[in-house]
Amino acid sequence: MPKIKDLLSVIDKEFPFGLQESYDNSGLLVGNAYDDIKGVLVSLDVTEEVLDEAIKLGANVVLAHHPIIFRGLKKLTGSNYVERTVIKAIKNDIAIIASHTNTDNKAYGTNSILAEKLGLKNVKVLVPQDGKLKKLVTFVPEEYEDKVRFALFEAGAGIIGNYDYTSFSAPGTGTFRGNENTNPFVGKQGELHRENEKRLETIFPSYIESKVIAALLSAHPYEEVAYDIFSLDNRNPYAGSGVIGEFEEEVDLQSFLSEVKKITGAGCIKYTQPHKKKVKKIAVCGGACFFALGNAIGSGADVFITSDVKYHEYFDALGKITLVDVGHYEMEQFVKEIFLNLIRKNFSNFAVHFSTVNTNPINYL
Ligand SMILES: [Zn+2]
Repeated sequence: MPKIKDLLSVIDKEFPFGLQESYDNSGLLVGNAYDDIKGVLVSLDVTEEVLDEAIKLGANVVLAHHPIIFRGLKKLTGSNYVERTVIKAIKNDIAIIASHTNTDNKAYGTNSILAEKLGLKNVKVLVPQDGKLKKLVTFVPEEYEDKVRFALFEAGAGIIGNYDYTSFSAPGTGTFRGNENTNPFVGKQGELHRENEKRLETIFPSYIESKVIAALLSAHPYEEVAYDIFSLDNRNPYAGSGVIGEFEEEVDLQSFLSEVKKITGAGCIKYTQPHKKKVKKIAVCGGACFFALGNAIGSGADVFITSDVKYHEYFDALGKITLVDVGHYEMEQFVKEIFLNLIRKNFSNFAVHFSTVNTNPINYL
């Protein structure tokens, strides 16, 4: 019987929890990772109603996009919906997992599925993550080059877009002299040694740094392993907020907006004075994503679809782009499909259900 930790590692492989933003709280929020999974319910939010649905279905895990515990809890008295939901989950032995900005930040995640439903092509990350890539440089005796190289790849290093196993190596001479406390792998204690080595370098995302270093140290034959870790200024084009894509041909803005309304089931769409009547390039970023307006304009998008836009923020778009607020729930609801497919692809020995509770707290008249 698969355990909750097995589900966590499947999620982590597809949407690494290390990709989440610093303010986020994705991961296992309630429950024990070593419990067996009896069934999973996938949802956008966790509410008491969603837990009732899980109980009815015999599911003991709720996998949700939004973390029910977000800002920290100091007491559990049931004085608000967060406390009541957590209490109910504990009482009913239901585990809660959140996969939030780690799902948003993946090239195929929360926003790409909406972009796909809107029919956008050539979809790319809108705001690539900054400062999250690192480089490892190490020096390896020639005959150990591949052993170390593949240990690093195994740990997750060397992935650039659709290519893995990326690295570079060049020959050179390493020098060292071990003191009386050493037992050198090559050379003699107390004597200067020159060794033919390879300078081996590869790239990795910063959240796997400890794993990469552990792999290096266990595969490298030396007592003291020489290595450098560099923080890179490169942006990661395959991870970040929002996406941008395009239609093959220009489409009429009004009919496009009607289509967006239909696909998302939005009760209302708010948008600025149309910047262009015919549109082709569309930026999409669900949630409170107004910060990406500059990226959308800079990327040449005709329309920026987001949610949670405040009154004064609409002014910033005027004359530059058509800013559209579709609603937070409406834009992110499809993430449930991603979760469902991910679980179905990886597990066959428990049931996974799609929550039918509309957790959107907003009504439209
Ligand atoms: Zn959200």
